[in-house]
Amino acid sequence: MTLSGWTITDLARALEAKETSSFEVTTSYIERIKAENPRLNAFITILEEEAQAAARRSDDRRDQGTTSGRLDGIPLAIKDNLCQQYIRTTAGSKILSSYIPPYTATTVQRLQDAGMVVLGKTNLDEFAMGSSGENSAFGPTKNPHDETRVPGGSSAGSAAAVAADLAPVALGSDTGGSVRQPAALSGIVGFKPTYGTVSRYGLMAMASSFDQVGPMTKTVEDAAILFEAMAGADPRDQTTSTRSCSSFTPNASLQGVRIGLPKQAWQIPGISPEVRFATEQAVEAMRGLGADIREVDLPYAEEALAVYYVLVPSEISANLARLDGIRYGDRKAAETLFETYEQSRGEGLGDEVRRRILLGTHTLSRGYVDAYYRKARRVRQLIAASYDRLFDEVDLLVTPTTPNVAWKIGEKVNDPLAMYLEDVFTVGINVAGVPAISIPCGRDEETKLPIGIQLIGRRFDDGRLLSWAHAYERV
Ligand code: GLN
Repeated sequence: MTLSGWTITDLARALEAKETSSFEVTTSYIERIKAENPRLNAFITILEEEAQAAARRSDDRRDQGTTSGRLDGIPLAIKDNLCQQYIRTTAGSKILSSYIPPYTATTVQRLQDAGMVVLGKTNLDEFAMGSSGENSAFGPTKNPHDETRVPGGSSAGSAAAVAADLAPVALGSDTGGSVRQPAALSGIVGFKPTYGTVSRYGLMAMASSFDQVGPMTKTVEDAAILFEAMAGADPRDQTTSTRSCSSFTPNASLQGVRIGLPKQAWQIPGISPEVRFATEQAVEAMRGLGADIREVDLPYAEEALAVYYVLVPSEISANLARLDGIRYGDRKAAETLFETYEQSRGEGLGDEVRRRILLGTHTLSRGYVDAYYRKARRVRQLIAASYDRLFDEVDLLVTPTTPNVAWKIGEKVNDPLAMYLEDVFTVGINVAGVPAISIPCGRDEETKLPIGIQLIGRRFDDGRLLSWAHAYERV
């Protein structure tokens, strides 16, 4: 079976018509992963036997007429910071290279309950910290459009897997852009839902008040389908909301939709000419579809990156304290307890993770907590309020997803600030907790590398955001 461009909708139709079986589809993807993974390094773990067994169960349900809906039998790939019971889950870290979780993340569980088949666990920047996929203890993932370049990160493997047809769809996690940014750099769709719509239970925490699981797909419709299957309150995650979201409608139009272009974002000097060209053309296409485009003021846009890089390391330093070689993680036994901690963490955690733990420990320490952490919390509230106010004036905000196309592997690894600047358009979204999606909007003429545009919606208006993104995608 040739696997080119298959979406959930295509596969569901083919399975329904019995043109193929889940076993055949799953086996074809597994064969393709085995052939391509040595080149792309998109998967840390390939679940051949488990996937084939799950596919057979789905085919049996289909024979008996007891399938659980259109997702039944459809394969997907999962970022390796989402726990799956009895399946090694590493978070891309050496310290968890042999960790076997005793439970399954709610998001994964809900998709499995819908009959989906997990093909494997995808590579990522260690504990989701990074923008390029290069911070993985399992080596960098390559961009399928050009193997000398990064696919974006931290959901690097999920992006590369979908872009290279190693999986029809995948899950990622997004703390400051890790679903949207690799989607943009790899030429696929990436959706970060409203904070609290999707459970974080079983997602290894990076920064708990920012983290959200999101779909990475070829089409907006597939993103909507996965989101609907995963979303909803979870008694195991107290930050999930019982509030319901607007719903996705596949034939929405952009006619009369008020779209704001935040001038602080579009005026950032670091936007490369090719990204500016493609994203401005996308805005023109939206205008052509009847959208009412206007420039808007988004106060504190510049501060968002600073707020993010104070609050996120603070939460990281607290969340990652459990990886001490005693409670979690490989232990390097030493003479004293302190040395055991020191050596387990020293050997088990990579540079970026240690950098952030140090930063966070500093910003939370007595004497600095008021100046950094508490102040950043206050600015966070101002940022969230400024988004809320803007959405009285407009229905959507639009920005580029990233300032640049995919860069060369190695180009920014020794320059953390340059790497952090790649997140300038995405982090504010998680600071405010609003939903946003990246969709492909063109390619760089010279390198042919993909470019993404970001559409940002009102909190809990995820369905309409997806509907409008779909209206743009159709043209
Ligand atoms: N690149 C950002 C960071 O390194 C975002 C990471 C993420 O969303 N997980 O923090």
